[in-house]
Amino acid sequence: MKDSLCAVCGGKLRKQKTSIDRLVGGHLYLFENVSVQACDQCGEIWIPGSVAERMDQAIQGKLKPKRRIPVPVY
Ligand SMILES: [Zn+2]
Repeated sequence: MKDSLCAVCGGKLRKQKTSIDRLVGGHLYLFENVSVQACDQCGEIWIPGSVAERMDQAIQGKLKPKRRIPVPVY
């Protein structure tokens, strides 16, 4: 993988594991331990295409969730 730079500020991107949530159609989807690229300077998170694809599959119900958690809404 080539050394990428942040498209927002031009800072260096660092590989990082994080949690990402997506709200789609009133359902909250939580992805844990996602490998992303995080910008050193502005903190912007860049999700690799393969990861985004997997998220879409999960949201379409093609992947089985590890577990379900209740989410408080305010
Ligand atoms: Zn940046």
